[in-house]
Amino acid sequence: MLQRSQFNYFVKREDGILGYNARTGIFALLSDHIAGTLQSSDPIKSVKSEKELTNMGFLHNGDEIDQIISIFEDERHQASRVSLTILPTLACNFSCDYCFQGDHSHGQFMSPNTQEASLRYVRSLLEEEGRSTFDCTWFGGEPLLAKETVINMSRQLNALAENLGLPCPDMKIITNGTLLTPSTSKDLSEVGVSFAQISFDSLVFKGKHKRGVMDVNGDPSIILKNIIDANKYLTIRVRINVSTENLSEVPEIISYLGKYGIENIYAERVFAHENEFASNDDSGCTVGSCGDCRSEDVSRIKESSSLSRADYASFEKEHFLENISDNPVKFKDLVKKLVPKKHFCGATLGNMHVIDPAGFISRCWHSAGSPAEAMANVHKLHLSDNASDIARRWREFTPFAYPACHDCKVLPLCMGGCSHPRVFMNAAEPPCDSIKHHIQFCVDQVGSAIDLRLQNSANTSEKATGAK
Ligand code: SF4
Ligand code: SF4
Repeated sequence: MLQRSQFNYFVKREDGILGYNARTGIFALLSDHIAGTLQSSDPIKSVKSEKELTNMGFLHNGDEIDQIISIFEDERHQASRVSLTILPTLACNFSCDYCFQGDHSHGQFMSPNTQEASLRYVRSLLEEEGRSTFDCTWFGGEPLLAKETVINMSRQLNALAENLGLPCPDMKIITNGTLLTPSTSKDLSEVGVSFAQISFDSLVFKGKHKRGVMDVNGDPSIILKNIIDANKYLTIRVRINVSTENLSEVPEIISYLGKYGIENIYAERVFAHENEFASNDDSGCTVGSCGDCRSEDVSRIKESSSLSRADYASFEKEHFLENISDNPVKFKDLVKKLVPKKHFCGATLGNMHVIDPAGFISRCWHSAGSPAEAMANVHKLHLSDNASDIARRWREFTPFAYPACHDCKVLPLCMGGCSHPRVFMNAAEPPCDSIKHHIQFCVDQVGSAIDLRLQNSANTSEKATGAK
């Protein structure tokens, strides 16, 4: 039976009504007749351009959630790309109170033995049938505390690619930037690391605790100085970790970065302890979220400076989504929010392999350093990582089993959010992406800015026009 999509949104413009469908990501200028039909709740008897409207997702026959589920499942069987995240160390020269990895002071470094075993594991992955590309993210701890490991293993990954006739991997690094000197940036770029993500969480740099953009004299901090120099060798993306503590500083942080030409900036909400997910079950708990135990972690949870998801969404709207038509970087980020996803991240996709300094292999960045959440270890490759109970949990995880997600109006844009709290903590609350709170605003912004002149010239009076 022909039905309206639950993912339709509409924008009023001078030239008519623009429709957007979140399952297909298509914007289309609609005739009055079609817009009226799509917005009405009367049964649909017949509609002009039915085929086009169905192809664009505004109408559907059968169950449209089934179509989303089959894309999600099909993608799990795409074996072509392997995504690696390697943590050469869990040690860090900073001590951020919100870090989900907790205390870094005794962080382990990856031994030469584990490096070799990790490369053997990567080789075995790449030799599987159908592999054509791979990428690697260097993560930690602070990966540049183990710079030699990053450089040597990057070289060996390139050699492995050449040996197997594959393109060299895309490589990036997530670093706090304090050790990203010009010579280190150059060394990284020479071994193929082309991108660095660096986070700030404060206006003023304070010892090991606050990653500020300026020092106490108002000059660029060591991190910002490094970014300015690293720009010659690497593509830099700056992330601002937003919490209740620094909320009021963020506009000044952005404007200070702008003075030095740093505009590739985005924000993320700090949620170190996943405490807002209100776990139903503390078995397998790694962070004490049930609140029943008396560990130090629980005190930290109670003092957490995490913003609520709704508050973060309001912040994001005000500082990153409003009045951005003349800012191409921010506008591109806004458009990306409206592009449908197949999976929220590589953990559910099944192509992500996170290798920690002890050689434990897991699916998720949050599981690094936690053997209980690992699928296998590179030193015991005779045990297939895919056969473990943890691998099975990830393989069988589906956000569609949760009624909140199944019925959600932004499901194709969020795809169930970060699944770690559901996979390991039986979280009761959905980990909603901020798009849930401002979908209509985003559609209005993009819909008002889309130039449909080209499409309109080929338009007929009744046909909807795709403008993906
Ligand atoms: S499940 Fe969540 S924490 Fe884990 S990799 Fe995905 S987004 Fe990150
Ligand atoms: S996590 Fe929240 S926003 Fe995402 S699909 Fe589920 S209910 Fe929707």
